[in-house]
Amino acid sequence: MKLVVVAGIPGSGSTTVLTKALEHLDYLHINYGDVMLEIAEKEGLVDDRDSIRKLSPEVQKEIQRKAAKNIKERSEQDNIIVDTHCTIKTPKGFLPGLPKWVLDELQPDMFVLLEADGDEILMRRINDTTRIRDLEKLSDIKLHQEMNRAVSMAYAALTGATVKIIKNHDNKLDESVGEMIRTLQ
Ligand code: AMP
Ligand code: MG
Repeated sequence: MKLVVVAGIPGSGSTTVLTKALEHLDYLHINYGDVMLEIAEKEGLVDDRDSIRKLSPEVQKEIQRKAAKNIKERSEQDNIIVDTHCTIKTPKGFLPGLPKWVLDELQPDMFVLLEADGDEILMRRINDTTRIRDLEKLSDIKLHQEMNRAVSMAYAALTGATVKIIKNHDNKLDESVGEMIRTLQ
């Protein structure tokens, strides 16, 4: 069974592209943030998904570890897509989304990174009223995408997984979805 990690910084459109691609593919779609939110809500730590990254790094890592176990338990029979983040931008710095103990639990076969231009991401965040998006400078957005490229290759070196980068530019959703389908089939 295959386990693929799909990641992109907030505003990259990774969840949108993935959800559309999965209409044509046979994968179980698990959103890491959903699993973490469920655990964090049960423990009375947060009321919404955008508060998780503001918790202390130690608490985030504890929830992250529990989420990895939960996902692994559900991944015995199916091909799985884990919709998550290579790094999470916290007030204490970049938190790795897949530290070694998470990689050991999940053993991914492939990482797919969704990227867009910094100015596209900036405008998407401004226009997204459904989420509490952090307002960042263009240079910070670019740095975050660079950090994700770098750390995804480190994740690949630890697991042997491949890393595929897919661009999701404005008004090109169908192309991005097409490339995601070809990558996953
Ligand atoms: P999302 O809906 O994908 O933005 O995820 C919601 C939140 O879940 C993120 O802002 C993070 O706080 C948390 N999250 C998702 N994936 C991970 C991960 N692999 N490690 C730590 N936190 C994560
Ligand atoms: Mg997402």
